[in-house]
Amino acid sequence: MATKLKEADVVIVGMGWTGGIMAKELSDAGLTVVGLERGPPRSDADFSVPMIRDELRYAVRNELFMDVSRDTLTFRNTPGQQALPMRRLGSFLPGEGVGGAGVHWNGQTYRFSPHDHALRSRVEERYGKSFIPQDMQLADWPMSYAELEPHYDKFEYMAGISGKAGNIAGKIQEGGNPFEGPRAREYPNPPLKPSLASEMFTETTRKLGYHPFPRPAANMSRPYTNPDGIQLGECQYCGFCENFGCEANAKASPHITVIPAALRNKNFSMKPYAWVTRVNRTADGKRATGVTYTSVLTGEEFEQPASLVILCAYGFGNVHLMLLSGIGKPYDPVSETGTVGKGYCYQVATVVQSFFEDRIFNPFMGTGSLGVVIDDFNGDNFDHGPVGYIGGASIYSASLGGRPINQRGVPPGTPRWGSEWKKATARWYNRTLQMSVQGSNMASRYNYLDLDPTYRNAFGLPLMRMTYNFTDNDEKLSAHLTTVAHDIARAMGPTHLGAKAPRRAPYSIVPYQSTHNTGGAIAGHDPSKSALNRYLQSWDVSNVFVMGASAFPHNSGYNPTGAVGALTYWAADAIRTKYLKDPGPLLRT
Ligand SMILES: Cc1cc2nc3c(=O)[nH]c(=O)nc-3n(C[C@H](O)[C@H](O)[C@H](O)COP(=O)(O)OP(=O)(O)OC[C@H]3O[C@@H](n4cnc5c(N)ncnc54)[C@H](O)[C@@H]3O)c2cc1C
Ligand code: SF4
Repeated sequence: MATKLKEADVVIVGMGWTGGIMAKELSDAGLTVVGLERGPPRSDADFSVPMIRDELRYAVRNELFMDVSRDTLTFRNTPGQQALPMRRLGSFLPGEGVGGAGVHWNGQTYRFSPHDHALRSRVEERYGKSFIPQDMQLADWPMSYAELEPHYDKFEYMAGISGKAGNIAGKIQEGGNPFEGPRAREYPNPPLKPSLASEMFTETTRKLGYHPFPRPAANMSRPYTNPDGIQLGECQYCGFCENFGCEANAKASPHITVIPAALRNKNFSMKPYAWVTRVNRTADGKRATGVTYTSVLTGEEFEQPASLVILCAYGFGNVHLMLLSGIGKPYDPVSETGTVGKGYCYQVATVVQSFFEDRIFNPFMGTGSLGVVIDDFNGDNFDHGPVGYIGGASIYSASLGGRPINQRGVPPGTPRWGSEWKKATARWYNRTLQMSVQGSNMASRYNYLDLDPTYRNAFGLPLMRMTYNFTDNDEKLSAHLTTVAHDIARAMGPTHLGAKAPRRAPYSIVPYQSTHNTGGAIAGHDPSKSALNRYLQSWDVSNVFVMGASAFPHNSGYNPTGAVGALTYWAADAIRTKYLKDPGPLLRT
């Protein structure tokens, strides 16, 4: 029997970026807010030198990530296959613990383009309806770029993004991204210092007629105090950034920004080690009454009643809890009815390496976001007619760090072990330049999430099942844009050029590709086609709001967290200014 706790105005499930922002915004509004997090507490003291620079512990044994011995998902490529449990982390690395994946992210912080926000309309307008593949579930976002702009801005100033604007109020800015949507003002901090790889990429892409710009970074280019009075240090280019907490408090992360800011409010409290197992509802199912959670330390069960439930448990956790709690109708790919689990998307990412006998890159100096990007092949910034696919990619040089275990590029043809490999890795460690292609991914009818009929987690609940494969559209995109990146690398004049390896079906859940999992609880205009309305409120249970990239109707050629942050501020604003005045559905159908 669960112990019933005192009722709160709001209960938030998950304490990453979205949970932290909601905690701050709603406790500032005077509501009593309880934040529940399944993982441990975390603070800056956990990530000090020298112990944080332990690649084996953090980047090989994945200490900061989701514990798959307690809960995981099952996976198959197509609906006809038997799904099997993912017993080790591989293709993606969901976070766990206070701060979520925002503790160990890289900090690459983009805005989605105006085109992304109006995808279906723009594609139909430029290429015609017949250009859209039959099984592609292409949709417009239910909010425009212009509506989200102030919320992108708020996220960027809270997180101290280092970058160069490309378009301020419609005026194109030298050195920024000329394809970006209009922004109200410059980034709060100037770009990071360029690496040799950044300089070479900039020079070559300019010569090829492209438009390079410094990648927007949540790694501080200088000491910064954000609007909440939170101080962040200057990035040390330590190279232990992706997969690690920051030793210098220089990477904007929820556990050092929005969460401590929320904790200043006495009406906000946070409980780590609290694993939410379901959202409770009234007998008619129309209202949530709170959540039930289990302490992962003692096994005790608690009920936390609340007037408002906000799911901030990353896309996977959000969709899993909706399916387990009967919030919305599960998606069925055969009849294409139901909405929960629909629209799961990923990213179509490839890497191109090149090797230069006469250059020294000092790869050990880098940060999670250091690099230069071109957007000439992203969104609809080029003519898709001749290439025959929808979507695009940001293409960029990456100087993320050169850690000793995992970062050892060698030219094609090098043996994979033995003395020849040892000689090659010593020779090329300092002479390797890496570029990446971060491709978009469109929702497809047979890519979805549901509950697995066979396997259960440590709490006896069905695991979530992922059915996912790359489509023809993904293969065309990857073949074209990996070739573009390869051609850029060749134009730099390397001694050796790495293999060209575009993504092809079947998708494998084993090698790491990206933790940019989106969709599953998508937002839209039509309750028969989307799980959430434009304010990220459940169409079915109006006092449940669902934050995160699970709301994206498709994934773009950028990293998602800029858009995730903007959507969270947008939804928080709707709760404060609309929902609290008149609790109930914010849109009626
Ligand atoms: C290695 C890595 C690098 C990345 N780099 C970038 C980047 O450079 N740029 C970018 O835009 N994005 C990046 N990302 C993605 C980024 O981290 C996520 O988009 C962002 O953290 C999502 O925030 P969130 O609040 O939705 O989820 P999370 O940060 O994952 O937080 C969700 C929290 O919910 C908790 N939770 C889940 N289920 C439950 C439950 N049932 N009960 C209680 N708590 C629960 C989890 O433990 C977690 O702490 C990266 C991710 C990884 C893993
Ligand atoms: S590279 Fe910079 S932001 Fe990243 S962990 Fe090191 S000091 Fe922090």
